[in-house]
Amino acid sequence: MIKHKITIQRGAKMIAFHIDMNVMQFSFDYLSKWLKSLSEMGYDTVLWEVENNIQWETCPECVSPDAFSKERFKELLRLCKDLNLQSIPLLQIIGHCEYVLKHDAYKHLSESSDRFDQYCPLNPELAPFLGQWINEYLELFGKVNYFHLGADEAWTLGNCPKCSNFAQKASLSELYIQHVNTIANPIIEKGITPIIWCDMALKHNEALEKLNRKIMIFDWQYGTYRGSGKFLVWGKGVMTTDTVSQDVLDRFGDFIFPHGQEPGSIPETFYTSDFLAFHGFQTVTCPSSCFWQDNFFAPRNLLHLRNCFDFMKKGLQAHLAGTLLTSWTVHLVPWELQFACIAMPEFITQHPAATLEEYKDWFIHRYFKFNDGDLFWKACGLLSKPCLFTNVQTLGQGKHTKPIPLDHAKNVIQSLKKENKLEEELKNAQTRLCEYKEALELFETFKGKIKGKEELIELWMLSAKNGIHRAEMTCFFIETELGLAPKPDKGKSLLDELAELKKQTETMYTPIVKQGRRKEMIDWIFAAVQHYLEELIRCL
Ligand SMILES: [Zn+2]
Repeated sequence: MIKHKITIQRGAKMIAFHIDMNVMQFSFDYLSKWLKSLSEMGYDTVLWEVENNIQWETCPECVSPDAFSKERFKELLRLCKDLNLQSIPLLQIIGHCEYVLKHDAYKHLSESSDRFDQYCPLNPELAPFLGQWINEYLELFGKVNYFHLGADEAWTLGNCPKCSNFAQKASLSELYIQHVNTIANPIIEKGITPIIWCDMALKHNEALEKLNRKIMIFDWQYGTYRGSGKFLVWGKGVMTTDTVSQDVLDRFGDFIFPHGQEPGSIPETFYTSDFLAFHGFQTVTCPSSCFWQDNFFAPRNLLHLRNCFDFMKKGLQAHLAGTLLTSWTVHLVPWELQFACIAMPEFITQHPAATLEEYKDWFIHRYFKFNDGDLFWKACGLLSKPCLFTNVQTLGQGKHTKPIPLDHAKNVIQSLKKENKLEEELKNAQTRLCEYKEALELFETFKGKIKGKEELIELWMLSAKNGIHRAEMTCFFIETELGLAPKPDKGKSLLDELAELKKQTETMYTPIVKQGRRKEMIDWIFAAVQHYLEELIRCL
């Protein structure tokens, strides 16, 4: 028996798309083209995470050289209006503030002297600074219904002496919630609904009752899906029916097991949305089509499809306020390669009872005018596992957007050597190489059969080629380091192929990302591995 009551939220559901310009500074034309497509695919809202890509006056130091003028950006906002897409601005109010705190003028606002990602919520200068910036956002965006305050992943909450002292007397939860309420109140007074991400409020939930109920919560979960038996507990990790702890059951049990906690009970994967709605918050579900651990050349489409399908549908339930598809550009993946997830709302809203397999068939037929997607889905899966230098963890790029040191690839190999992990990585690269090659063949065959969107498959083929080259290069680095028959000719041919792939990858990004950032992205992807390759060739 369900012990809790959930308030039914009336009105149309929000179907939103997240435009993250944190790392990929999208071009005007690319954004215009996608806004039109989003509207056609059933989206009604765009969440603009513009960060330093507007010529801000409140924080001129952070403004990117490629930033939009306000007049130019207003053209995009007008286009949204014409397309019936409402715009939601996003400004970070605690975590993910690298783009501000990396500048000397703002270091005093930082929670820790050795990091530059989080503001100190008790710094008396912070609220006036953010308040001024929020007003500048509102001037730019005009009349809005919602304002997103970020407020996720405040990794060092309570670190500075002042915050630590506060947290000891009250709690980390109280520290966080007091800050969010303080920044949100003036927005609420303007008749606008503030929004925050869910993670901090759920991880530190002791004082949740004090969080203003006029704040909407965007409940994000990217790695889970129905049938996995797993559910995420913020601050504690992924759990199952067998591993769930008593304190978690005491707090969330009614929502994780809404039909009782008998042995073998199936957990509700997305119980957090029910929990938040029960506690009086308007709640929007947020799946992802690209996030942490994705390869830069291919996201884990099969995982994202399951997460998006289940969590988007959850957001359309009567007691929830809708859904937002997130996509994180620190992983450098163009939206085209996430298209199978992005295209989902059109199907889900028309076929609420359909299965994911039915969606996948519909997608292949709708966009490729073909009836069999096996080759496509298999190839996407084969490309999704990483080898060295294919993702943030080993490539080294990040939200800091700083250049990657030229000796980065060499250092990665050397530290793996120290950890005795070179053989393991070599084996991984060899396995991936076979999979990436198979993916390329499958995409080639698929392209010959379809009657639409061939250019999308060509993008996938470039991804496969980049993957093959990365895996071959990794093998070459490790084999050389281990003294296993070094082959100078192989090194030279890898270098030639790298030059060609660099050219093709830059051409691919040309219509997507503005020039300055595009150059940086190409450097992140290629410069350090190229440098190491050249060094090894010289030594052989
Ligand atoms: Zn502090």
